[in-house]
Amino acid sequence: MKYFSTRGGEEHLSSAEAIIQGLSSNGGLFVPEEIPTVDPAFVKGLVPLSYEERAVAVLRRFLTDYTEEEIRGCVTRAYGLDKFDTERRAPTRIFDDGSVLELWHGPTSAFKDMALQLLPQLLKTALEKTGEKATVLILVATSGDTGKAALEGFRDVDQTKIMVFYPEGGVSRIQGLQMLTQEGSNVNVTAVRGNFDDAQSGVKRIFGDVAFGEELAAAGVKLSSANSINWGRLVPQIVYYFSAYADLLGAERIAYGDEVNFCVPTGNFGDILAGYYAKCMGLPIGRLICASNRNNVLTEFLHTGTYNRNRAFYKTITPSMDILISSNLERLLYHMSNDAQQVAKWMKELAKTGTYTIDKKLLQKIQQTFWADWADDEATKATIKEAYSFHHYIPDTHTAVAWQVAERYQRETGDQREMVVVSTASPYKFNGSVLSALGVPVDSQDEFALLDRLQELNDDKIPRGLASLREKTVRHRDVCAPDEMKKFVAAFAKQ
Ligand SMILES: *Cc1c(COP(=O)(O)O)cnc(C)c1O
Repeated sequence: MKYFSTRGGEEHLSSAEAIIQGLSSNGGLFVPEEIPTVDPAFVKGLVPLSYEERAVAVLRRFLTDYTEEEIRGCVTRAYGLDKFDTERRAPTRIFDDGSVLELWHGPTSAFKDMALQLLPQLLKTALEKTGEKATVLILVATSGDTGKAALEGFRDVDQTKIMVFYPEGGVSRIQGLQMLTQEGSNVNVTAVRGNFDDAQSGVKRIFGDVAFGEELAAAGVKLSSANSINWGRLVPQIVYYFSAYADLLGAERIAYGDEVNFCVPTGNFGDILAGYYAKCMGLPIGRLICASNRNNVLTEFLHTGTYNRNRAFYKTITPSMDILISSNLERLLYHMSNDAQQVAKWMKELAKTGTYTIDKKLLQKIQQTFWADWADDEATKATIKEAYSFHHYIPDTHTAVAWQVAERYQRETGDQREMVVVSTASPYKFNGSVLSALGVPVDSQDEFALLDRLQELNDDKIPRGLASLREKTVRHRDVCAPDEMKKFVAAFAKQ
């Protein structure tokens, strides 16, 4: 199966090549030529399998240039029990009135691990398969979660290096400690004197600097990105939709063929798009519900057909969804319209004016599958409190946004099909907001005291990766100004 750009053109690559390259040369995102389909026996056959075997079965359908052995090797290294704290890897918790798919049992306690554990393995195998000899240097600008998950995924992976830039003073104490104590022989973490935008613009400038790229190539280094535009980061996420469905079948909560709805806390549209691929493959999914926070650009788009990023930006208690440009929406537009030229036009408009509008027919088609709403911080906190009172379950803030929107969806539409709320972070990762939602005063306590306080209320233990931070030593102390980032990259690349 070949992959080509959402904006058209002649480039047709194998999945290995697409994963190495990341973005297509005309700026579009790589999509599969056709979406493979599966039959009922395939889905039923997943029920007795481990998460890893489910992953092999689904990934094979897309990564046709990898051998089954190669895929199995990648999956085994990515999802080992040295990294995940539960045998089931991504367990589905079933309550009386719905289910929660927990995607945060990996090393950094956020759902990004599901993809960022596998991407480095797929990339390393791709380098071997294609005979690429350069060392790939991954550059990441992070506002918190992605940086740590990428560091954990790429640490000590041969032929790769990873460098993470974060805004000095701009991440939570836990997030900062997670990154600054990072171990591994191929990692670098550098603070930028500025905000997240300074860090991100700096990284983008470096990617766009052709002369610098040539200088690095001469030293045997190729730059690449770990963000969710890379197909190798999207494809692992398709697996857990199948896995959740198999869990519900196995628990006899549903019978084969029953449609299930998923409600997904959404930022960059990667997670929910993976659900759309699963549906196109034939998994019985009803509606995909897109839950946003106050940065509700996607809610507006899915209601009106106009995407408009020219709006105020709000900081919320769900920072991983504080996003105004959802890159993966471009893939949905391509699959829904089948018109690469039109997609290229919309994206050009977005870059130039910050907005574009799709036609009514296409909007209606999208709305047949997608439903959208958003929740503000207050509603989010109220939902955490309710989940605790009614289910003795503590969702993190992002999960609570989805939980709230899922309830609204059911109230407004009367759709009673099984609802799965996709849970994207451990509550311990956002302990301050979660505790305050539960009515615990948090003002003067340090982060570790908060972890202990939350542990008193929660049935789940503090995740290993967070608990062990207390003993870890800080290994990274570099700080640079935004205009020094290139110099720091050059030094690390040639090290
Ligand atoms: C990244 C992230 C999201 C958003 O996922 P997208 O794929 O960007 O839509 C939601 N919740 C958490 C905790 C995240 O880290």
